[in-house]
Amino acid sequence: MLELIDIHKSYEDQPLLDGISFTVAAGETVCLLGASGSGKSTLLRIIAGLETPEQGQVCWDGQDLAPVPVHQRGFGLVFQDYALFPHLNVAANVAFGLKMQNRTDDEIDLRVASILEMVNLTGFGDRRVTDLSGGEQQRVALARALAISPRLLMFDEPLGALDRSLREQLMDELRRILHESGVPAVYVTHDQEEAFTLAGRVLLLHDGSIVRSGTPEQVWSDPGSVWAAQFLDAGNVVSGIVISSTSPFQVETSAGVFEFRCGHAHSAGEKVNLLVSRRGVRQAAHGRVSGVVMDVIFRQDGFKVTLENGLDFYLPDAPRIGEKIFLTVPENGIKCL
Ligand code: ADP
Ligand code: MG
Repeated sequence: MLELIDIHKSYEDQPLLDGISFTVAAGETVCLLGASGSGKSTLLRIIAGLETPEQGQVCWDGQDLAPVPVHQRGFGLVFQDYALFPHLNVAANVAFGLKMQNRTDDEIDLRVASILEMVNLTGFGDRRVTDLSGGEQQRVALARALAISPRLLMFDEPLGALDRSLREQLMDELRRILHESGVPAVYVTHDQEEAFTLAGRVLLLHDGSIVRSGTPEQVWSDPGSVWAAQFLDAGNVVSGIVISSTSPFQVETSAGVFEFRCGHAHSAGEKVNLLVSRRGVRQAAHGRVSGVVMDVIFRQDGFKVTLENGLDFYLPDAPRIGEKIFLTVPENGIKCL
Protein backbone atom coordinates (compact mmCIF):
# COMPACT_ATOMS: atom_id res chain seq x y z
CA MET A 1 0.00 0.00 0.00
CA LEU A 2 1.22 3.47 -0.90
CA GLU A 3 0.87 6.07 1.79
CA LEU A 4 1.60 9.78 1.53
CA ILE A 5 1.84 11.56 4.86
CA ASP A 6 1.64 15.35 5.07
CA ILE A 7 3.69 16.17 1.96
CA HIS A 8 4.84 19.79 1.66
CA LYS A 9 6.66 21.31 -1.28
CA SER A 10 7.27 24.90 -2.29
CA TYR A 11 9.12 26.64 -5.09
CA GLU A 12 10.70 30.06 -4.59
CA ASP A 13 8.91 30.41 -1.23
CA GLN A 14 5.54 29.78 -2.87
CA PRO A 15 3.85 26.75 -1.29
CA LEU A 16 2.68 24.36 -4.01
CA LEU A 17 1.77 21.28 -1.98
CA ASP A 18 0.64 22.17 1.50
CA GLY A 19 0.12 18.98 3.48
CA ILE A 20 -1.01 16.21 1.14
CA SER A 21 -1.97 12.86 2.68
CA PHE A 22 -3.65 9.88 1.03
CA THR A 23 -3.30 6.17 0.55
CA VAL A 24 -3.59 3.85 -2.45
CA ALA A 25 -4.61 0.33 -1.50
CA ALA A 26 -4.00 -2.90 -3.41
CA GLY A 27 -5.73 -2.90 -6.80
CA GLU A 28 -7.06 0.62 -6.36
CA THR A 29 -6.97 3.40 -8.97
CA VAL A 30 -6.82 6.84 -7.41
CA CYS A 31 -7.19 9.84 -9.69
CA LEU A 32 -5.79 13.17 -8.67
CA LEU A 33 -7.81 15.83 -10.42
CA GLY A 34 -6.75 19.46 -10.44
CA ALA A 35 -6.29 22.49 -12.66
CA SER A 36 -3.12 23.02 -14.63
CA GLY A 37 -0.38 24.27 -12.31
CA SER A 38 -1.92 22.81 -9.17
CA GLY A 39 1.11 20.60 -8.48
CA LYS A 40 -0.05 17.23 -9.83
CA SER A 41 3.14 16.42 -11.71
CA THR A 42 5.23 17.57 -8.78
CA LEU A 43 3.38 15.19 -6.50
CA LEU A 44 3.96 12.28 -8.90
CA ARG A 45 7.64 13.17 -9.12
CA ILE A 46 7.79 13.11 -5.32
CA ILE A 47 6.18 9.64 -5.24
CA ALA A 48 8.58 8.44 -7.93
CA GLY A 49 11.56 9.78 -5.98
CA LEU A 50 12.54 12.30 -8.66
CA GLU A 51 11.83 15.19 -6.30
CA THR A 52 12.22 15.53 -2.52
CA PRO A 53 9.48 17.03 -0.35
CA GLU A 54 10.42 19.62 2.27
CA GLN A 55 8.31 17.80 4.78
CA GLY A 56 6.34 14.58 4.88
CA GLN A 57 6.85 10.98 3.88
CA VAL A 58 6.14 8.63 1.02
CA CYS A 59 5.76 5.11 2.41
CA TRP A 60 5.20 1.67 0.95
CA ASP A 61 3.69 -0.91 3.30
CA GLY A 62 4.77 1.25 6.20
CA GLN A 63 8.36 1.69 5.03
CA ASP A 64 9.60 5.25 4.38
CA LEU A 65 10.88 5.36 0.80
CA ALA A 66 13.14 8.39 1.31
CA PRO A 67 16.35 6.31 1.17
CA VAL A 68 15.11 4.18 -1.77
CA PRO A 69 16.36 5.48 -5.15
CA VAL A 70 14.00 5.94 -8.12
CA HIS A 71 14.86 2.72 -9.97
CA GLN A 72 14.48 0.58 -6.85
CA ARG A 73 10.97 1.74 -5.98
CA GLY A 74 9.33 -0.67 -8.44
CA PHE A 75 7.00 2.02 -9.76
CA GLY A 76 6.06 2.36 -13.45
CA LEU A 77 5.53 5.81 -14.95
CA VAL A 78 3.57 6.79 -18.04
CA PHE A 79 3.89 10.39 -19.23
CA GLN A 80 1.90 12.53 -21.61
CA ASP A 81 4.77 12.69 -24.12
CA TYR A 82 5.34 8.89 -24.12
CA ALA A 83 9.11 9.30 -23.54
CA LEU A 84 9.91 6.27 -25.70
CA PHE A 85 13.41 5.50 -27.00
CA PRO A 86 13.18 6.50 -30.69
CA HIS A 87 16.14 4.38 -31.80
CA LEU A 88 14.63 1.16 -30.38
CA ASN A 89 11.75 -0.83 -31.86
CA VAL A 90 8.56 -1.57 -29.95
CA ALA A 91 9.77 -4.85 -28.43
CA ALA A 92 13.07 -3.32 -27.31
CA ASN A 93 11.26 -0.39 -25.73
CA VAL A 94 9.01 -2.75 -23.78
CA ALA A 95 11.97 -4.96 -22.87
CA PHE A 96 14.05 -2.07 -21.58
CA GLY A 97 13.24 -2.40 -17.89
CA LEU A 98 13.46 -6.20 -18.04
CA LYS A 99 17.00 -5.99 -19.47
CA MET A 100 17.94 -3.74 -16.56
CA GLN A 101 16.69 -6.51 -14.27
CA ASN A 102 19.07 -8.97 -15.97
CA ARG A 103 16.34 -11.40 -17.04
CA THR A 104 17.17 -14.10 -19.60
CA ASP A 105 16.34 -13.48 -23.28
CA ASP A 106 13.69 -16.23 -23.28
CA GLU A 107 12.02 -14.79 -20.23
CA ILE A 108 12.08 -11.33 -21.78
CA ASP A 109 10.58 -12.52 -25.10
CA LEU A 110 7.72 -14.26 -23.32
CA ARG A 111 6.99 -11.32 -21.09
CA VAL A 112 7.11 -8.80 -23.96
CA ALA A 113 4.72 -10.93 -26.05
CA SER A 114 2.21 -11.26 -23.24
CA ILE A 115 2.31 -7.56 -22.37
CA LEU A 116 1.93 -6.53 -26.03
CA GLU A 117 -1.13 -8.74 -26.18
CA MET A 118 -2.55 -7.09 -23.08
CA VAL A 119 -2.28 -3.63 -24.67
CA ASN A 120 -3.60 -4.84 -28.05
CA LEU A 121 -0.27 -4.51 -29.87
CA THR A 122 0.33 -8.15 -30.78
CA GLY A 123 2.54 -8.28 -33.88
CA PHE A 124 3.92 -4.75 -33.38
CA GLY A 125 7.21 -5.88 -31.80
CA ASP A 126 9.43 -5.16 -34.82
CA ARG A 127 7.92 -1.79 -35.71
CA ARG A 128 9.84 1.43 -35.19
CA VAL A 129 8.17 3.46 -32.48
CA THR A 130 8.55 6.59 -34.60
CA ASP A 131 6.22 5.06 -37.22
CA LEU A 132 3.38 4.56 -34.73
CA SER A 133 0.38 6.80 -34.12
CA GLY A 134 0.08 8.71 -30.85
CA GLY A 135 -2.35 6.18 -29.43
CA GLU A 136 -0.08 3.29 -30.34
CA GLN A 137 2.95 5.02 -28.87
CA GLN A 138 1.07 5.52 -25.63
CA ARG A 139 0.23 1.82 -25.53
CA VAL A 140 3.93 1.03 -25.94
CA ALA A 141 4.69 3.37 -23.04
CA LEU A 142 2.06 1.59 -20.96
CA ALA A 143 3.44 -1.81 -21.97
CA ARG A 144 6.93 -0.69 -20.98
CA ALA A 145 5.67 0.43 -17.58
CA LEU A 146 3.72 -2.82 -17.05
CA ALA A 147 6.53 -5.11 -18.23
CA ILE A 148 8.55 -4.85 -15.05
CA SER A 149 5.53 -5.96 -12.97
CA PRO A 150 5.49 -2.67 -11.06
CA ARG A 151 3.95 -2.58 -7.62
CA LEU A 152 2.44 0.80 -8.51
CA LEU A 153 1.64 2.51 -11.81
CA MET A 154 1.71 6.28 -12.13
CA PHE A 155 0.16 8.18 -15.01
CA ASP A 156 0.77 11.85 -15.75
CA GLU A 157 -1.96 13.06 -18.13
CA PRO A 158 -1.20 10.15 -20.46
CA LEU A 159 -4.04 10.89 -22.89
CA GLY A 160 -3.54 14.64 -23.01
CA ALA A 161 -1.91 14.64 -26.45
CA LEU A 162 -4.53 12.47 -28.16
CA ASP A 163 -7.65 13.54 -30.01
CA ARG A 164 -11.06 12.99 -28.50
CA SER A 165 -12.18 9.69 -30.02
CA LEU A 166 -8.80 8.07 -29.48
CA ARG A 167 -8.78 9.37 -25.92
CA GLU A 168 -12.13 7.78 -25.20
CA GLN A 169 -11.06 4.48 -26.68
CA LEU A 170 -7.80 4.41 -24.74
CA MET A 171 -9.60 5.45 -21.56
CA ASP A 172 -11.84 2.40 -21.76
CA GLU A 173 -8.88 0.17 -22.55
CA LEU A 174 -6.85 1.59 -19.72
CA ARG A 175 -9.72 0.89 -17.37
CA ARG A 176 -9.79 -2.72 -18.51
CA ILE A 177 -6.02 -3.12 -18.26
CA LEU A 178 -5.91 -1.64 -14.76
CA HIS A 179 -8.65 -4.00 -13.62
CA GLU A 180 -7.07 -7.02 -15.33
CA SER A 181 -3.56 -6.37 -14.08
CA GLY A 182 -4.71 -5.45 -10.57
CA VAL A 183 -1.77 -3.05 -10.26
CA PRO A 184 -2.65 -0.09 -8.02
CA ALA A 185 -2.39 3.24 -9.80
CA VAL A 186 -2.14 6.96 -9.24
CA TYR A 187 -3.48 8.80 -12.26
CA VAL A 188 -3.21 12.57 -12.52
CA THR A 189 -5.22 14.63 -14.94
CA HIS A 190 -7.04 17.95 -15.31
CA ASP A 191 -9.77 16.17 -17.28
CA GLN A 192 -12.70 15.12 -15.11
CA GLU A 193 -14.11 12.70 -17.68
CA GLU A 194 -10.85 10.76 -17.55
CA ALA A 195 -10.77 10.87 -13.77
CA PHE A 196 -14.39 9.78 -13.42
CA THR A 197 -13.97 6.95 -15.93
CA LEU A 198 -10.85 5.49 -14.38
CA ALA A 199 -11.01 6.24 -10.70
CA GLY A 200 -12.23 4.10 -7.88
CA ARG A 201 -11.53 7.21 -5.84
CA VAL A 202 -11.10 10.82 -6.98
CA LEU A 203 -9.02 13.37 -5.09
CA LEU A 204 -9.55 17.04 -5.93
CA LEU A 205 -6.34 19.06 -5.60
CA HIS A 206 -6.68 22.81 -5.08
CA ASP A 207 -4.47 25.43 -3.43
CA GLY A 208 -2.02 22.80 -2.27
CA SER A 209 -4.59 20.63 -0.53
CA ILE A 210 -6.93 17.77 -1.26
CA VAL A 211 -10.23 19.58 -0.88
CA ARG A 212 -12.50 16.62 -1.59
CA SER A 213 -12.17 12.88 -2.02
CA GLY A 214 -14.60 10.07 -2.70
CA THR A 215 -16.04 7.92 -5.43
CA PRO A 216 -16.76 9.78 -8.69
CA GLU A 217 -20.44 9.73 -7.79
CA GLN A 218 -19.88 11.14 -4.30
CA VAL A 219 -17.60 13.92 -5.51
CA TRP A 220 -19.93 14.85 -8.36
CA SER A 221 -23.13 14.91 -6.34
CA ASP A 222 -21.62 16.71 -3.36
CA PRO A 223 -18.50 18.66 -4.35
CA GLY A 224 -18.45 20.41 -0.97
CA SER A 225 -17.18 23.85 -2.01
CA VAL A 226 -17.90 26.59 -4.53
CA TRP A 227 -14.50 26.03 -6.13
CA ALA A 228 -15.08 22.27 -6.57
CA ALA A 229 -18.62 22.75 -7.89
CA GLN A 230 -17.40 25.25 -10.45
CA PHE A 231 -14.30 23.26 -11.40
CA LEU A 232 -16.42 20.15 -12.00
CA ASP A 233 -19.20 22.20 -13.57
CA ALA A 234 -21.52 20.12 -11.38
CA GLY A 235 -24.47 22.49 -11.68
CA ASN A 236 -25.50 26.09 -11.08
CA VAL A 237 -23.85 27.83 -8.16
CA VAL A 238 -26.30 30.36 -6.73
CA SER A 239 -25.80 32.59 -3.72
CA GLY A 240 -28.66 33.81 -1.58
CA ILE A 241 -30.01 34.54 1.86
CA VAL A 242 -31.80 32.03 4.09
CA ILE A 243 -35.35 33.27 4.77
CA SER A 244 -36.70 30.36 6.82
CA SER A 245 -34.66 28.65 9.47
CA THR A 246 -36.37 25.28 9.64
CA SER A 247 -36.03 22.48 7.11
CA PRO A 248 -37.03 22.66 4.29
CA PHE A 249 -34.99 25.83 4.16
CA GLN A 250 -35.91 28.61 1.80
CA VAL A 251 -33.24 30.72 0.16
CA GLU A 252 -33.98 33.95 -1.61
CA THR A 253 -31.81 34.67 -4.64
CA SER A 254 -31.91 37.00 -7.62
CA ALA A 255 -33.57 34.17 -9.59
CA GLY A 256 -36.29 33.49 -7.01
CA VAL A 257 -36.74 31.25 -3.99
CA PHE A 258 -35.08 27.84 -3.76
CA GLU A 259 -36.35 25.31 -1.24
CA PHE A 260 -34.13 22.50 -0.02
CA ARG A 261 -33.40 20.14 2.87
CA CYS A 262 -30.01 19.99 4.49
CA GLY A 263 -28.31 18.30 7.43
CA HIS A 264 -26.66 21.58 8.47
CA ALA A 265 -28.20 24.20 10.70
CA HIS A 266 -29.05 27.41 8.87
CA SER A 267 -30.42 30.59 10.42
CA ALA A 268 -32.54 33.30 8.84
CA GLY A 269 -30.41 36.04 7.30
CA GLU A 270 -27.46 33.69 6.70
CA LYS A 271 -25.73 33.95 3.34
CA VAL A 272 -25.39 30.58 1.60
CA ASN A 273 -24.14 29.20 -1.70
CA LEU A 274 -26.30 26.54 -3.29
CA LEU A 275 -25.43 23.97 -5.92
CA VAL A 276 -28.50 23.54 -8.08
CA SER A 277 -28.64 20.54 -10.41
CA ARG A 278 -29.38 21.21 -14.07
CA ARG A 279 -31.59 18.14 -14.23
CA GLY A 280 -35.01 17.31 -12.88
CA VAL A 281 -36.16 20.93 -13.31
CA ARG A 282 -39.62 21.50 -14.80
CA GLN A 283 -41.54 24.45 -16.17
CA ALA A 284 -44.61 25.20 -14.05
CA ALA A 285 -46.77 28.30 -13.74
CA HIS A 286 -46.40 28.25 -9.93
CA GLY A 287 -42.61 27.78 -10.07
CA ARG A 288 -40.74 30.06 -7.67
CA VAL A 289 -37.58 30.27 -9.78
CA SER A 290 -37.77 32.29 -12.97
CA GLY A 291 -35.76 33.92 -15.71
CA VAL A 292 -35.85 35.18 -19.25
CA VAL A 293 -34.64 32.65 -21.83
CA MET A 294 -31.47 33.78 -23.54
CA ASP A 295 -30.44 30.67 -25.45
CA VAL A 296 -31.73 27.17 -26.20
CA ILE A 297 -29.43 24.42 -27.46
CA PHE A 298 -30.64 21.01 -28.60
CA ARG A 299 -28.99 18.11 -26.78
CA GLN A 300 -29.70 14.41 -27.13
CA ASP A 301 -31.24 14.24 -23.68
CA GLY A 302 -33.12 17.55 -23.61
CA PHE A 303 -32.74 21.23 -24.34
CA LYS A 304 -30.03 23.17 -22.59
CA VAL A 305 -31.74 26.42 -21.65
CA THR A 306 -29.67 29.40 -20.53
CA LEU A 307 -31.39 32.21 -18.68
CA GLU A 308 -30.39 35.86 -18.58
CA ASN A 309 -29.68 35.56 -14.85
CA GLY A 310 -26.85 33.13 -15.66
CA LEU A 311 -28.58 29.89 -14.67
CA ASP A 312 -28.88 27.01 -17.09
CA PHE A 313 -30.96 23.84 -17.01
CA TYR A 314 -31.85 20.85 -19.14
CA LEU A 315 -35.55 20.97 -19.97
CA PRO A 316 -37.59 18.36 -21.85
CA ASP A 317 -39.29 21.02 -24.00
CA ALA A 318 -37.78 24.04 -25.69
CA PRO A 319 -39.07 27.43 -24.50
CA ARG A 320 -38.93 30.46 -26.80
CA ILE A 321 -35.98 32.83 -26.64
CA GLY A 322 -37.02 36.05 -24.89
CA GLU A 323 -39.82 34.31 -22.99
CA LYS A 324 -39.92 34.50 -19.17
CA ILE A 325 -40.23 31.00 -17.75
CA PHE A 326 -41.12 29.75 -14.26
CA LEU A 327 -39.47 26.63 -12.89
CA THR A 328 -39.82 24.16 -10.05
CA VAL A 329 -36.53 22.77 -8.83
CA PRO A 330 -36.63 19.44 -6.95
CA GLU A 331 -35.42 19.61 -3.34
CA ASN A 332 -33.02 16.71 -3.88
CA GLY A 333 -31.36 18.64 -6.74
CA ILE A 334 -30.10 21.31 -4.32
CA LYS A 335 -27.13 21.15 -1.94
CA CYS A 336 -25.51 23.84 0.13
CA LEU A 337 -21.79 24.39 -0.48
P1 ADP B 1 0.51 20.45 -12.74
O1 ADP B 1 1.15 19.18 -13.11
O2 ADP B 1 -0.68 20.30 -11.85
O3 ADP B 1 0.19 21.30 -13.93
P2 ADP B 1 3.14 21.10 -11.72
O4 ADP B 1 3.41 20.13 -10.63
O5 ADP B 1 3.77 20.83 -13.03
O6 ADP B 1 1.56 21.30 -11.86
O7 ADP B 1 3.68 22.52 -11.27
C1 ADP B 1 2.94 23.48 -10.63
C2 ADP B 1 3.77 24.74 -10.49
O8 ADP B 1 4.91 24.51 -9.68
C3 ADP B 1 4.33 25.26 -11.79
O9 ADP B 1 3.44 26.12 -12.43
C4 ADP B 1 5.59 25.97 -11.36
O10 ADP B 1 5.26 27.30 -11.01
C5 ADP B 1 6.00 25.26 -10.11
N1 ADP B 1 7.15 24.38 -10.34
C6 ADP B 1 7.10 23.07 -10.65
N2 ADP B 1 8.34 22.55 -10.76
C7 ADP B 1 9.19 23.56 -10.52
C8 ADP B 1 10.63 23.67 -10.47
N3 ADP B 1 11.43 22.62 -10.71
N4 ADP B 1 11.14 24.89 -10.21
C9 ADP B 1 10.37 25.95 -9.93
N5 ADP B 1 9.02 25.90 -9.96
C10 ADP B 1 8.43 24.74 -10.25
MG1 MG C 1 1.49 18.30 -14.97
